[in-house]
Amino acid sequence: MNCPKCGSEAVSKALTQYPINHCLNCDNLFYVHNILVDNLQAEIAALKLRIEKLDEELKEICICAAIKTPSGIYRGHRHGDCFLVMQRKKILRSTEDIQGFITSRNRFVDRNEGRKLQDIARIESVSP
Ligand SMILES: [Zn+2]
Repeated sequence: MNCPKCGSEAVSKALTQYPINHCLNCDNLFYVHNILVDNLQAEIAALKLRIEKLDEELKEICICAAIKTPSGIYRGHRHGDCFLVMQRKKILRSTEDIQGFITSRNRFVDRNEGRKLQDIARIESVSP
């Protein structure tokens, strides 16, 4: 334990029945209890900020349009581009095709889930 005033490690207990410490270097008397609470509060505040920042960074957002078909997922800037990719690869459109998006976590989501993710991340629709 270090003295909160001078930082010296030369600290001894002043009174055994109370949590009062005595710095042998600067003669400071201090409560261990208060120091711990102060340190913990600062640590908790720093951790809370870090968690908030991580939460912000980890928000899943839509990266590009995608169409999920029985033969695979086709990506594009917009859904029209996905259809062009499919056309080029001679993939026939089917009723099983699902229009959606690829997210920042490399996950396919349908249009509804994509809209929800964008709403949570407060990103407005390009074409509402
Ligand atoms: Zn001291």
